[in-house]
Amino acid sequence: MSLEHDETDALLDPPASQTAAMLTPMEVAERILDGDLEALDSGTMLAYLRGEVDVWALMAAADTVRRARFGNEVHLCSIVNAKEGGCPEDCGFCAQSRHFDTHVQAKKFTPVPEIVSHSERAATRNASALGLVTATRGLEHDTKALDHVVEGIKAVRDAGYTEAHASVGFLSDEAMDRMIDAGLTELNHNLETGRSFFSKIVSTHTYDERMDTVRKAKSKGLRTCVGGIFGMGEAPSDRVELAEALRELDVDEVPLNFLVSIEGTKLPNQDQLEPLAPMEMLRIIAAFRLFLPRQNIFIAAGRTHLGQLLPMMFGAGASGMMVGDFLTTANRTVDDDLAMLDELGLVPHRCGQTRRELEKPRARLPVLG
Ligand code: SF4
Repeated sequence: MSLEHDETDALLDPPASQTAAMLTPMEVAERILDGDLEALDSGTMLAYLRGEVDVWALMAAADTVRRARFGNEVHLCSIVNAKEGGCPEDCGFCAQSRHFDTHVQAKKFTPVPEIVSHSERAATRNASALGLVTATRGLEHDTKALDHVVEGIKAVRDAGYTEAHASVGFLSDEAMDRMIDAGLTELNHNLETGRSFFSKIVSTHTYDERMDTVRKAKSKGLRTCVGGIFGMGEAPSDRVELAEALRELDVDEVPLNFLVSIEGTKLPNQDQLEPLAPMEMLRIIAAFRLFLPRQNIFIAAGRTHLGQLLPMMFGAGASGMMVGDFLTTANRTVDDDLAMLDELGLVPHRCGQTRRELEKPRARLPVLG
């Protein structure tokens, strides 16, 4: 494995445990249950991520918070590529960037009836939302892509199987308004990593542009789904920075992804990265649960790196997972995932609540739990 971005941060900053009495994870959990949603501060989170507390103690505390907040419910959602490949941005992990020579070829728009079929299939598998994803910088100036996404959202809304979410890059006010009018209930716009590390991953846009898009969505009453990717060579301090940004934005859903190396993209070629160890992944999930106790934290790409420990992601505080294939990589089968939940005694439940009245979709959503 290559050197982490900030491997020296352990030398620069003394461990939190040596500078002040550090709260144990269970003390943090108890404070959260007493109503202090920011009981875990950044310095303590950094110490947790650096391994200064036992991972089992961290997971026990995270699980306590998860069960208090979500009970036995697990939120499932699914995504579909509405426009695959050919993206002008250069995100170093992404197979859909036109800057990299990968197995993904730029394709035309996915036909709307196909998108609706994905929504129906997702609903029958207990997913409550389908995210329409486009490999685009945004829909600000691409009117054809915007028209297509608006049509897709409207069709999913009218079919009524799932909520319609979207992940389409940057949006003008007008574009966002059109999508909301068509039935969009939630916007995904990941920050990918912490601010300090971001420029090592992406050069074609800025962290602030991403933050501003999330703020704009919130100002228009959309729910927001914002997360990141781990295992890109970032340091624990970069992970804390990401968590701080998510807390500042007060997002609703937090997808945690773990890098799936795709041949041809920048990251694996440049840094010879290996997947994070499963216990390290669980440590990250647990620390995020304690830092963001209100949010639905769901595990998306790369969760199969957990191997035999996959079910333990819930014991580490995850409250949801993405089901079905990811954009450019395969996932476990949905049947396997649902069987796993059944064996764990966990129950699929709807992702979030719509802020806008959507009578028809609600009436036809499967009854869960
Ligand atoms: S992550 Fe999104 S914006 Fe970045 S290259 Fe991939 S499709 Fe484009």
